[in-house]
Amino acid sequence: MDVTHSRRARYTPGSMRMNSTSFPSRRQAGKVGSGPPRSIADPCRYVRGVGPGRASVLANLGIENVNDLLTHFPRTYYDRRTMVAISSLQPGVDATFCGRVQSATRGRPRGRRTRVVVAVADDTAVVQLVWFNQPYVFKRLKTGTRLIVSGRLSYYRKQRQVVNPEFEVVDDSLDASVEIGGRITPVYPLTSGVTQNYLRRVIERALEAYAGVIHENLPLALRDAECPSRAEALRAIHFPESESLHERAMERVKLEELFYMQLALSRQRVRRAATGSSPRIRVERKLERRFLDALGFDLTTAQRRVVEQIHADLRGQRGMNRLLQGDVGSGKTVVAGIAMLAAVEAGHQVVLMAPTEILAAQHAATLGPHFAKLGINVTLLTGSMKAAEKKSVHERLARGEIRAVIGTHALIQDAVSFASLGLVVIDEQHRFGVRQRAALTRGATPPHVLVMTATPIPRTLALTAYADLDLSVIDEMPSTRMPVTTRIVPPERREAMYAYIRERQAHGEQAYLLYPVIEDTEGQNLESAESAYSDLLRGPLKGVPVGLLHGRLHAADKDRVMRAFAAGDLRVLVATTVVEVGVHVPAATIMVVHHAGRFGLSQLHQLRGRVGRGGKPGYCFLLSGEHAAPDTLDRLRVLVEESDGFRIAEEDLRLRGPGEFLGVRQHGVPGFKLANPLRDVRLVERARNAVQGLLAEDSALRGVDGSLCREYLHALLGNEQDVTVV
Ligand code: ADP
Ligand code: MG
Repeated sequence: MDVTHSRRARYTPGSMRMNSTSFPSRRQAGKVGSGPPRSIADPCRYVRGVGPGRASVLANLGIENVNDLLTHFPRTYYDRRTMVAISSLQPGVDATFCGRVQSATRGRPRGRRTRVVVAVADDTAVVQLVWFNQPYVFKRLKTGTRLIVSGRLSYYRKQRQVVNPEFEVVDDSLDASVEIGGRITPVYPLTSGVTQNYLRRVIERALEAYAGVIHENLPLALRDAECPSRAEALRAIHFPESESLHERAMERVKLEELFYMQLALSRQRVRRAATGSSPRIRVERKLERRFLDALGFDLTTAQRRVVEQIHADLRGQRGMNRLLQGDVGSGKTVVAGIAMLAAVEAGHQVVLMAPTEILAAQHAATLGPHFAKLGINVTLLTGSMKAAEKKSVHERLARGEIRAVIGTHALIQDAVSFASLGLVVIDEQHRFGVRQRAALTRGATPPHVLVMTATPIPRTLALTAYADLDLSVIDEMPSTRMPVTTRIVPPERREAMYAYIRERQAHGEQAYLLYPVIEDTEGQNLESAESAYSDLLRGPLKGVPVGLLHGRLHAADKDRVMRAFAAGDLRVLVATTVVEVGVHVPAATIMVVHHAGRFGLSQLHQLRGRVGRGGKPGYCFLLSGEHAAPDTLDRLRVLVEESDGFRIAEEDLRLRGPGEFLGVRQHGVPGFKLANPLRDVRLVERARNAVQGLLAEDSALRGVDGSLCREYLHALLGNEQDVTVV
């Protein structure tokens, strides 16, 4: 079994053998929390070992209830059925071993990359572990620390060493032979504040304590003799005992995902047909003309076409439920502005929702002044505003005094009601949960809805996931866009790259340096924004005005940093992907992505769309780390060669699956964690037939099969009136 850091659960069936003796049974009393488990909708803190603190950390991973925890699937596995003694490591053969750190040094031979060298020993021998250019691993490798290491032995000047191995720190309290060895061990996506071992422990506990209430959720039509029960399937994915069980478990859970996505959408369609229709809007275009005159450029043909489609929706009987796709920089915001003006002109209120405060503020800053000239005040509403301010905005919205509001999630909290909401525009949709979207669009006269995304969703997937939205595409760039050259930067070229950044920033250009995580995290050998920030300021970017931006800063600090960067006072921005979507800084010409292999191609494509916006060509540098797997490099090469967002998205889907596109993971709405509609065509078909069959016989979901489906949907979505998807 390979030990890679692919983001999706990877599994090499060929390496799997039945080996039940090595799978320790550690059954514990089923008691958890304050009483017996009631349902998989229980909050996680009902699981023993999850207190309020951990619960809030788990929430960062999108894990709120037991079901979320049970479906937090491994991204890969370590095969620890076969741990070897250090003395029997063979050159060139992948192996996993356990040992203790005897010494650790960090050095930076002059002009060379940094090198962390660690001696690790077990009872049989010592071996040297070497990491190049990963100075951040050093602080986790104190003398005496116990490690599990996976890697490949090689010789360097007669010295036995393992270069850039995967490793994990293991608690001394664990019994090496039972708890960490002997089985195929899941490797989970982490966040800071939880370790692999912690997740393994609580997930295993949840599996045991809740086994009795993990009910069947698939209709009979989808269950054959081979199909494991839901409880068995979940266990087999987290702690696989055999190859065939794991395979069947994966198939089952994919079917669940595909079935529930389609079931939810089908019911939504039925419901929408039954609710009131959106206000019909007389499109005047007077404000639009003045807006376009002030902008000083002509719409592209594609923009014009989309504007016509939107107008037809606004005027029409059916109302608008439209998904607008357009590559980064294709000019979606202008189109949204035009749609908003049409609704305001007809006397309605309009809402523009952005996924982050930064983006909301930016939209307000771009559209605000233009709207103001047309006599329309744009109000900003975000979560970090003071309660009193928010309250005042709410009141003015309810009285109809505010005609245009731009904001974040704060907009969909219960307290917000509108006098006459005519249009909701949702920017960068993939960041929003479908559930949130529903919150703004209920009622007797639901508003028109325009969803915008820069993620080009391939048609096959759109048909499955957005079956009830009409689709518009802006497939043309404004002629002012500059090309962005993309390069994969190998470790030995890093210094040269920093030198280049130094030089460019001295000429007034700006750079983003992106990192996958905010701070160093146990169990993840990843460079973090925080440690890179201090390293760079001391090293390669000494004297350069560098800023740090990540999601955990206070809104005011984020705002300050972003403004300083936009103004050019900061030349380099060290950041996490909070800058991913929508940010517009024209002087930025360089985008550097560290650990690029961890990102989806579409996401990387969006990131590089942040540069080259100001008349100078852009550069995107992708760093993949020293131990990049060949398939990671192949994947990144797609970006070097391809600039068409749609083709990149197709490739991404083929390679990674659709989780990223749907953004439903974070919100516990039926989404895809394992299934991939492009690959799992046969399963899509089976799920679709089952949905149609079920609804044809039992549209209210009251029968035996129907009830179990309804129950599961409720458990999944919380105690809402009904399933609200889209
Ligand atoms: P998107 O949201 O699709 O990524 P934006 O709407 O933010 O793109 O537009 C990117 C930039 O291009 C903005 O500065 C915008 O003013 C400009 N722009 C939009 N449409 C045109 C056009 N037709 N011609 C020239 N520039 C345009
Ligand atoms: Mg945008």
